[in-house]
Amino acid sequence: MKTTKSYVAKSVENMAPSGIRKFFDLAATMEGVISLGVGEPDFVTSWSAREAAILSLEKGYTSYTANAGLLELREAISDYISERFYVPYIANEEIIVTVGASQAIDLAMRAILDPGDEVVVVEPCFVSYVPLVELAGGKAVTVETTGEQGFKLQAEDLEKAITPKTKALLLCSPNNPTGTQLDREELQAIADIVKKYDLLVIADEIYAELAYDLRHTSIASLEGMRERTILINGFSKGFAMTGWRLGFVCAPRELAAAMLKIHQYTMMCASTPAQYAALEALQTGMNDVEEMKKAYRRRRNYFVQSLNEMGLTCHVPGGAFYVFPSIQSTGLTSEQFAEQLLVEEKVAVVPGSVFGKGGEGYIRCSYASSMEQLQEAVKRIKQFLEK
Ligand code: PLP
Repeated sequence: MKTTKSYVAKSVENMAPSGIRKFFDLAATMEGVISLGVGEPDFVTSWSAREAAILSLEKGYTSYTANAGLLELREAISDYISERFYVPYIANEEIIVTVGASQAIDLAMRAILDPGDEVVVVEPCFVSYVPLVELAGGKAVTVETTGEQGFKLQAEDLEKAITPKTKALLLCSPNNPTGTQLDREELQAIADIVKKYDLLVIADEIYAELAYDLRHTSIASLEGMRERTILINGFSKGFAMTGWRLGFVCAPRELAAAMLKIHQYTMMCASTPAQYAALEALQTGMNDVEEMKKAYRRRRNYFVQSLNEMGLTCHVPGGAFYVFPSIQSTGLTSEQFAEQLLVEEKVAVVPGSVFGKGGEGYIRCSYASSMEQLQEAVKRIKQFLEK
């Protein structure tokens, strides 16, 4: 018999494991660790959403829904996206409810990529982007953003990365891991290049609700962009629903139909109780979203100021719940910094290098932790730096 490993597909064999998980596994073996590593809210899903899921089970709603999701939920999503972000989508044709934004990204890639097609990926970025492009047979062409530019994609850098094989740009604002939010003008400059080269944009707007100083602008709302955008969003972050695994994708009819074909064969539909919870969250949960946002804003302000005072300089991130301070003054690599901080002071952060180009010299800290935990983390990081 061949070796068991030789049965693994080459595309999977060559895939690097997530650098984030490595740190979680190490932290999990230690006691008393403050984790600023995880990218998820510390809040519990609002009670009304939880209750709606319970009620749906009590009523016996335990079967599949339509492949694209409950029509009622898609209608609520359509209203939500058009009222908050000014992009109209037809519930019955242009929206698919997915298993998290993660599945939506996968669907988008598989629906548009032929072998060898290129996708421009802006780094530092969410760890799944490059592997998902490659799994779909595409080639990820990475463009670096830098701390000096506040990790904002420059239109001229985007233009330089475009080749005749480029099919799409994958863009995330507000961003994981940097927290950078692009304003309307910056998005417009990017949209102009996208239109000039006739590309699609896959817009990952999962942090749209978590924008603290400036209301989120969806790139799909800019003139001429709706027809060339696959808009990805979901309930995990803004609505504190990571474990429910519920997201959605909105796209022009032909693209939505292509994604739906893949979705119906691979997933059938998203979880039924989770869809009822999400419907309730959209109908009655916006106040909870606002309250969580206020708490994140307070924590962000405290944490950014504390890090800057310690000499770990960072820009003020406009959104998400991450800060991305520079650790270059310590002379350590981001991996050394994260490892030593964990071992010596029991604070878990993620080395910036795991997020790709431009990430080395930085660490990602999530401030989705209680104020007390953040204060303790600040104390420990200070101690670490004093050593
Ligand atoms: N996109 C970005 C930028 C993320 O940071 C995450 C989660 O960390 C996701 C997508 C996945 O979200 P979901 O839980 O909805 O799959």
